[in-house]
Amino acid sequence: MEKKNIDWGNIGFGYIPTEKRFVANYKNGAWEEGGITEDANIVLNECAGVLQYAQTIFEGMKAYTTEDGRTVIFRPDLNAARMVDSAKRLEMPAYPADKFIEAINELVKENEAYVPPYGSGASLYIRPYMFGTNPVIGVKPADEYQFRAFVTPVGPYFKGGAKPLTIKVSDFDRAAPHGTGHIKAGLNYAMSLHAIVTAHAEGYDENMYLDAATRSNVEETGGANFLFITKDNKVVTPKSDSILPSITRRSLLYVAEHYLGLEVEERVVPFEEVKEFTECGLCGTAAVISPVGKVVDHGNEICFPSGMNEMGPVIKKLYDTLTGIQMGHIEAPEGWIYEVK
Ligand SMILES: *Cc1c(COP(=O)(O)O)cnc(C)c1O
Repeated sequence: MEKKNIDWGNIGFGYIPTEKRFVANYKNGAWEEGGITEDANIVLNECAGVLQYAQTIFEGMKAYTTEDGRTVIFRPDLNAARMVDSAKRLEMPAYPADKFIEAINELVKENEAYVPPYGSGASLYIRPYMFGTNPVIGVKPADEYQFRAFVTPVGPYFKGGAKPLTIKVSDFDRAAPHGTGHIKAGLNYAMSLHAIVTAHAEGYDENMYLDAATRSNVEETGGANFLFITKDNKVVTPKSDSILPSITRRSLLYVAEHYLGLEVEERVVPFEEVKEFTECGLCGTAAVISPVGKVVDHGNEICFPSGMNEMGPVIKKLYDTLTGIQMGHIEAPEGWIYEVK
């Protein structure tokens, strides 16, 4: 397969349309077969459910080339399952998990020329999503939906090394108890935009959200889960029903326990405890782990002793091991690497 002539190392994270995308429609209570289309545009009625009441969910994953030349995707079965959970919470018909995998497989195969070559540091970002399409004016779920997935090549996340982030403890809340924080819904992002624009204007990279009920426990950022390392090298991650269950975070915890022999704790993390940790990182598909150097709570600075200038040693080991598994240098647990065929 001849690859596109793209400067893979310098494309950043933006929308670069390719020729092919996947579409399937839901109508009269059933999903149609669906297939590849070249039309990047969607024509919707002015009253479509998604436009009026934000009935939309999404997923994010990556395809990349291994050293031995295979095109693979990391744990897409978990994205498929998570999208089913998201759909149920927003009263949307779930796109079946097996159909999801088939669709993604076909989509990536059709776009193989855009899967960056091994060693470029770039990858092919996959964005499956689903939204209500028919007119809805009285508040209720739509009856018709579209499932769509497109791809866009994205550059290496850490160009010139991982620079630790500075994070602000936000005055805004991300997710209410018993709300929608645990699903991947566009609405969670719409309401985080003001908070992130404000944080950026103040010179911060990201927001740390606390639990909305008590504002005393760490939840997550707008789009990544937290990992902390204790003085005695335990890996700690916040537990809460309003956190989005990151596939990267779940994979890193497994790697910590089963590959690195580290103790792992998923539990409530009081903000008061943050100053006791030695390392901090943000996990998500985009970067795997971004190191955090500093958390600022209304002028009060918490600096992590390891990780102000570069990734701390434990976070680096986690990062190297998981990316090694993804790239095929380290043997993966059963079922983690899906080969596109
Ligand atoms: C997508 C997302 C993450 C990261 O999840 P991954 O499955 O690791 O990509 C974390 N937090 C939020 C709010 C998200 O939407």
